[in-house]
Amino acid sequence: MTEMVRKITLSRAVRTMQDLFPEEYNFYPHSWILPEEFPLFVAEVRMMKESDPPWKPTFIVKPDGGCQGDGIYLIKDPSDIRMAGNLQSRPAVVQEYISKPLLIDKLKFDIRLYVLLKSLEPLEIYIAKDGLSRFCTEPYQEPTLKNLHQVFMHLTNYSLNIHSGNFIHSDNVNTGSKRTFSSVLYRLSSKGVDIKKLWSDIISLVIKTVIALTPELKVYYQSDIPAGKPGPTCFQILGFDILLMKNLEPVLLEVNANPSMRIEHEQELSPGVFENVPSPVDEEIKVAVIRDTLRLMDPYKKKKKDNQNCKLSNSNFTMASVDILYIDITRRWNSTGLDQRESGMCLQAFVEAFFCLAQRRYKSLPLHEQVASLIDFCEYHLAILDEKRLVCSRGMTERRAALGTCQPDGLHLTAATHAPLLNRMTAANKLTDYRNHRS
Ligand code: ADP
Repeated sequence: MTEMVRKITLSRAVRTMQDLFPEEYNFYPHSWILPEEFPLFVAEVRMMKESDPPWKPTFIVKPDGGCQGDGIYLIKDPSDIRMAGNLQSRPAVVQEYISKPLLIDKLKFDIRLYVLLKSLEPLEIYIAKDGLSRFCTEPYQEPTLKNLHQVFMHLTNYSLNIHSGNFIHSDNVNTGSKRTFSSVLYRLSSKGVDIKKLWSDIISLVIKTVIALTPELKVYYQSDIPAGKPGPTCFQILGFDILLMKNLEPVLLEVNANPSMRIEHEQELSPGVFENVPSPVDEEIKVAVIRDTLRLMDPYKKKKKDNQNCKLSNSNFTMASVDILYIDITRRWNSTGLDQRESGMCLQAFVEAFFCLAQRRYKSLPLHEQVASLIDFCEYHLAILDEKRLVCSRGMTERRAALGTCQPDGLHLTAATHAPLLNRMTAANKLTDYRNHRS
């Protein structure tokens, strides 16, 4: 999957579909692959300029395999590429820059949506009902030669904007430089935007993108997991980055095979002294994604109510040994060379740790029952936290109602429909809670 969603591979896969179904795949910006298509890029831009002289385009150059805005720059003319980069050493995609994005509070923003690819045969896709909106930290202006280099104005990457003095960390998921997508939708719907249509356009974009990736993905899959062999099944959580244009049409920016599941952010306490603090907005979105993924992937789906009151503390392992397990597994996975720029655990590592804990806690059961029991245990405690939150938090019912009106029917993470909305207790509170249960 990591190979499939590299910028060049994704562009090729979408382009094949654009050639076949241009109208269905008009959600992906016109792109050229460098260095091989540089002459084509020059020729096509020249032709378009000749046929439409007032057209003053901007292009964005993105190195293949890059992430977090690394190496990205904007240009006004194909000739600027040669000056700005070394094409031979770093293949890239050059793309039409969407110069009229939808703005909120005068800021450009993008959407990170989580998508679970549950199975390829049959194709099963689930889209999380909420995602993140990541805001730029300088008011947007259409690109000019003067502002092309202003990353805080043009690039929405969290990893870049966090370094702007204007970045706002908020404890409220509706404000700040990172918000829930539902809060943005709520705001748009209050201005009369047709949210149902917007969602259904986004869902089409996701499904069509996965369809574009499927043929090659199936080849990889079948060579690793031969048909008819009972063997491992697998799944993938993908991070879709989507931009909304001023006319509200969604545009696909890229797909991430290993989206960050971090629910903390770094805060500078005093110059040079950093501390990890809980990030309520990340927690609200990502905990639901992981929880619902585990529910959906549990092949046995047996609910063992009588197990719900068991405590991890009954088991014979200590908090220190859990910490060691965490450090060991994280270190091992981070050294596998996966794009793992952010610290913390990647999803594969989390799954391994989860299985390991389940095996230790429920010794005598088969693995699937051990895992199912630990999921039940976690869900039970999350539900208790949800109840506490509901008692504490007024106004949540209003939010639910607001969300209810903007959810279309469709391929959403089904569990998210029924699951209580996420608690807003901080990660620190959860940890305390967890430790209390253990002691
Ligand atoms: P990376 O993997 O390095 O984050 P992206 O493709 O996501 O690369 O691009 C980084 C950022 O640049 C995006 O989050 C978005 O804000 C901006 N961007 C990317 N492509 C376009 C485009 N075609 N038009 C407008 N903005 C874009």
